Amino acid sequence: MRFPLALTAKIAGHIIRHKLARTPKFALVLQLEPLHTCNLTCTGCGRIREYSTSLKDMMNLEDCLASAQECGAPMVSICGGEPLIYPQIEELVEGLLQQRRIVYVCTNAMFMRKKMKDYLAAIYSPEREPTLRKLLEEKLISDQDAETIRHASARGTARHASSGRRDELPAFPSKPVIRPTRWMYWNVHIDGLEYTHHLIVEREGVFQECVRAIRMAKILGYQVATNTTVYKETDVREIEEMFKFFSWLGVDGHTISPGYDYDAAKKDMVKRLGKSPKDFFLTRDLTRQKFKDIQKWGQRFTLFGTPVYQEFLAGKRELTCTAWAIPTRNIRGWKAPCYLMTDGHYAGYQEMLDKVDWNKYGVVNGLARDPRCENCMVHCGYDPSGALGTNFQRGDNWRNFKYNFWPKPKRYERGHEVNAFNGFSSGKGHLAPANAALKSAGLTRERADAELYLGLSRSGEASVATSEGRSGGCGSADTSQRDRLVAKVAPARKIELKPQRVPGTDAHS
Ligand code: SF4
Ligand code: SF4
Repeated sequence: MRFPLALTAKIAGHIIRHKLARTPKFALVLQLEPLHTCNLTCTGCGRIREYSTSLKDMMNLEDCLASAQECGAPMVSICGGEPLIYPQIEELVEGLLQQRRIVYVCTNAMFMRKKMKDYLAAIYSPEREPTLRKLLEEKLISDQDAETIRHASARGTARHASSGRRDELPAFPSKPVIRPTRWMYWNVHIDGLEYTHHLIVEREGVFQECVRAIRMAKILGYQVATNTTVYKETDVREIEEMFKFFSWLGVDGHTISPGYDYDAAKKDMVKRLGKSPKDFFLTRDLTRQKFKDIQKWGQRFTLFGTPVYQEFLAGKRELTCTAWAIPTRNIRGWKAPCYLMTDGHYAGYQEMLDKVDWNKYGVVNGLARDPRCENCMVHCGYDPSGALGTNFQRGDNWRNFKYNFWPKPKRYERGHEVNAFNGFSSGKGHLAPANAALKSAGLTRERADAELYLGLSRSGEASVATSEGRSGGCGSADTSQRDRLVAKVAPARKIELKPQRVPGTDAHS
């Protein structure tokens, strides 16, 4: 099965219950953003800019847990910002598990190994020595880490008996830690192989850390998913290579969604730069071209989501947006209408459902009800539509059932042959050419950012840096800077690829 049976059954049961009760709108996945602070500053990230005036604010733990209960979604995706910075992330994950929800921790992976070391320290006993040795051999922890883990146990601070919860838990520690359970996934943000990923996150070394964290997670028995956004400049052959590599690394599943740009940024592109939006933005047509093979990928790799959504991305059918099924809750309240756009925040989920005119949004029969929705095909608007049976066609249920219940695709055994670490050999670090390109255009990275926001504000269409700005989501909305940057450095991308050791493994790429 693509997704563990208990989890599939939980989600299916939730949908069936609401269908029988004829609930008109209900939540499937809660996007919970306890904070917007992040340790990275990815190009074009909507979150850290839209909420730039409140980066130090956080939701309190009780509000986070109450939000999940309020909307009743069986699945909670904890995102942000970087959720592992949230001081009570362990209590939050544990609290949601106690509420019997499926939990995704969406992370850039920079603090994952630290959290897993905390887990090891909490459950350490001499029987764990073979695991520690393996982690040491693969350089996933240091000798000092190993000693700290052993001593935490010796100090007797870590363990007491299992709480007897629903899962096959190891000993349940007194200090909450994020522990492996089939009800929880690490969901690691990866937008390509090393070169591309570093361009997008604007920092070198991040890709390697993602690989190490995933490898450590798999050794410790965690479930891991990857989460990828495809942009105009993304070479889809690279995405396929990425799936091969992470499948070989043992990743349990992948989500993939097209990047999207809203109308205000598109108009700004015409007005301020005199450019054709088609040169920069992922339109619906371009999305369909990029995703034309998604159904084949779904057969070869463990892609999450519904086959109906895949047909939509491949241009084989239309769907209606059901953004209310993946609501976003953050420090300002329930964000409407969707994860990407902000037209308001509401105090309660039901209040948001009642007060928002949902008929104003989405694309119906090829016509955008709101111009900002025109090119949107993102999973948080349309993947639930596939599960909920909107635009139902004969055979959909069977296809959804078969996709999820048939044996999942096998691990890609030759993934170690993928040139995943393709950014080392440019000599000065591969971001150097990107910076040089900006410099030759008379721009610094900061100035390029500032220009874009000023331009958008002046256009009167949106105020990206203000609280109600119509900016996009985490790494998935305004792609103009990213696209410009990638286009400029494309020639510098002809990097000589050398066989290298894959960090944390015995294989060579
Ligand atoms: S179509 Fe996209 S942008 Fe428009 S409301 Fe739905 S999810 Fe949001
Ligand atoms: S895209 Fe995600 S990881 Fe990157 S800066 Fe934004 S919140 Fe942080």
